[in-house]
Amino acid sequence: MTSNDLLAKSKKHLWLPFTQMSDYEKDPLIIESGNGVYLKDIEGNTYLDGYSSLWLNVHGHRKKEIDEAIEKQLQLIAHSTLLGAANIPSIQLAEKLVELAPEAITRVFYSDSGAEAVEIAVKMAYQYWQNRGYENKKSFVTLSNGYHGDTVGTMSVGSIELYHKVYTSLLFDAIVIPFPASKEEQTESDLCRESLKQLRELFEAKHEEIAGITVEALIQGAGGMNLMPKGYLKGVEQLCKEFHILLIVDEVATGFGRTGKMFAVEHENVQPDIMTVAKGITGGYLPIAATLTQEHIYEAFYGEYTDLKTFFHGHSYTGNQLGCAAALANLEIFEKENIIQQVEEKALFLEEQLKHVAELEFVGAVRQLGLMCGIQLVQHKRTSEPFPWEQRVAYRSTLKMRALGMLTRPLGDVIVLMPPLAATNDQLKQMVDIMKEGIMEAATECLEQQV
Ligand code: PMP
Repeated sequence: MTSNDLLAKSKKHLWLPFTQMSDYEKDPLIIESGNGVYLKDIEGNTYLDGYSSLWLNVHGHRKKEIDEAIEKQLQLIAHSTLLGAANIPSIQLAEKLVELAPEAITRVFYSDSGAEAVEIAVKMAYQYWQNRGYENKKSFVTLSNGYHGDTVGTMSVGSIELYHKVYTSLLFDAIVIPFPASKEEQTESDLCRESLKQLRELFEAKHEEIAGITVEALIQGAGGMNLMPKGYLKGVEQLCKEFHILLIVDEVATGFGRTGKMFAVEHENVQPDIMTVAKGITGGYLPIAATLTQEHIYEAFYGEYTDLKTFFHGHSYTGNQLGCAAALANLEIFEKENIIQQVEEKALFLEEQLKHVAELEFVGAVRQLGLMCGIQLVQHKRTSEPFPWEQRVAYRSTLKMRALGMLTRPLGDVIVLMPPLAATNDQLKQMVDIMKEGIMEAATECLEQQV
């Protein structure tokens, strides 16, 4: 099939997620292959993968060990159901995940995407209290601007107005508390203390009806790469313990080395009751996700079938052997290549590079945790005034970056930089250079169009 045929057919039949299709039709992109941190389109253009193919690629594309692990598993079987029957790689991976996860985690419940992992966490937390006889504990607390996926349950515990508003009447009510974002002249520790004080007041008033709190680990991803003040998540953990509220930490975006630790909760030694993982679990190869729990969660579901304690949830492809084999190979590489230490070092290098981005007139803030970064665009640094919404400055910047040889996506006025963990310092520098140029070109164009 020629490039033109593919383009025509993609326009005729495809409906891409989170994409206004008229935008896609103006600037279509069809990827054919990938190698290392590069993607190649059907026209033969190569791009740096600046968003890790949506925040999940770890060791680069076509990583030999992962390719081989999938091929080897394929010789045995591609898939058998996990409903009532285990399979070998799913057992091995469960053991590995428990070994790597925070100490208190002992159980692994598989699914196929980050949203499902969180949906499952919410259903588990809800039923946990029902099974234990606390029928009033039914509500969930969540942070403003949070994102946990696009299913009805995960949108209910999410709160990004742009994505969720249209579905409001479909969603169950969650208690939304403000994300601890600093106001002027407030120190990080004051912000942390005051935010936790407010949470304590909420828990004191409503703990008898709250089942759990869902929270992204240390940094909000889709909400614009917002960092929590140091100590906040630890404080939430302590309050959860004190008031018997389940702590559900969403590590879908942050897990598997992204923030410079295997899991972001390690930065504050937090032990979630339930923790969700996906994205980087297979190195970015196959759709595997997992909801990890402490033993007391599992125990609340253990009993005779007739007790109706069973967790009635399961997807057809859950525990897929190819995915689990890819995940095992991915995690082996972490050990073999000492990836976590490498990420710590690369993050420092990237921080230095991003200082040049922070200096640009059109950059209001640069936020970074490990290799997870957001660059906030503004019209003027001094006033922090945003560009008019309809100018879509960040989106236009990403189109410029694409022309310069890097792919990424914006989140409102924030540009995401999430390179594969395998990116070398040279490649990180190239990405930052392209980003600077793309921002300058698009922002200048936007300003010119205003006069
Ligand atoms: N939780 C978080 C924190 C995420 O960042 C995402 C995806 N960006 C999800 C959940 C949903 O994951 P998925 O797209 O795999 O459903």
